Amino acid sequence: MRRTEALRGLVRETRLEPGALIYPLFLCPGEGVRKEIGSMPGVFNLSVDEAVKEAESCAELGLGGLLLFGLPSEKDEQATGAWADDGIVQQGLRALKANRRLDGLVTIADVCLCEYTSHGHCGIVARSPRDDGHEHFTVENDSSVKLLAKTAVSLAKAGADVVAPSDMMDGRVQAMRTALDGAGLQETPILSYAAKFASAFYGPFREAADSAPQFGDRRSYQMDGANAREAMREIELDLAEGADMILMKPAMPYLDVIRAARERFDVPMGAYQVSGEYSMLYAAFQRGWLERERAMLESLIAIRRAGAEFIVTYFAKDAARVL
Ligand SMILES: [Zn+2]
Repeated sequence: MRRTEALRGLVRETRLEPGALIYPLFLCPGEGVRKEIGSMPGVFNLSVDEAVKEAESCAELGLGGLLLFGLPSEKDEQATGAWADDGIVQQGLRALKANRRLDGLVTIADVCLCEYTSHGHCGIVARSPRDDGHEHFTVENDSSVKLLAKTAVSLAKAGADVVAPSDMMDGRVQAMRTALDGAGLQETPILSYAAKFASAFYGPFREAADSAPQFGDRRSYQMDGANAREAMREIELDLAEGADMILMKPAMPYLDVIRAARERFDVPMGAYQVSGEYSMLYAAFQRGWLERERAMLESLIAIRRAGAEFIVTYFAKDAARVL
């Protein structure tokens, strides 16, 4: 049954198609800006006009959608750029939605505060001096959730087809659902990053989105990589709060968790092949250590086989070209 490609194709259990791939876009201020990200060759920070061009090529390749991130011109403690009416992603969404050639792409807006806070954490930070003289800080769950809900409404109003909370605060899905419904946006689905592990593989993204925390790390709100059962609990909670779909992140180091989630939950599920997964493969391609096309497709089919229906990946355009 493996003798020819025709035979192999006939009995292939898992298939990849461009419509299952989602391409991340990093929107930045300005015009005509197309700035390559050092640790992610082939991936760019794009001004809105350039992002529209990029989206057009994604639409021509038949990709499923875009996942939007923003780099605001200014950052502050309240993450104003995340929820402001004229925020960078809001501007981008309006431009994308005004272009009929892009109707085939689902626009997914990432909802988080880390790209917009001056300290780079995913929520509001409270500092408290203690007796030992050191300043301690905590990321406040509940005040962060209020701003996240406000952000989701703002992005949906600007034209996001789907909002995707990636912050990992407790209760944010329910808060967003309530806020969206209250704003007349009952039809906007929520794609929850339900199981997002605190991962070293996010490294290059922090350069792409300029969102590295200025102090501490994200381990007090993102999940411990050792915990698969806890991931199931996180997913269950997000679904109970009203999440319509779930996203697993990262992908390759967590394929077992994706499989476990697929067997347990009957909702659409995607996985995010994160920046570090892309960059390490890309580095090996550049050195001639791995065969580009085959390694790229193998990494993607593995994620589909584990049980993810759709994949957010920086390889989306390259893979679509091959497919
Ligand atoms: Zn974040």
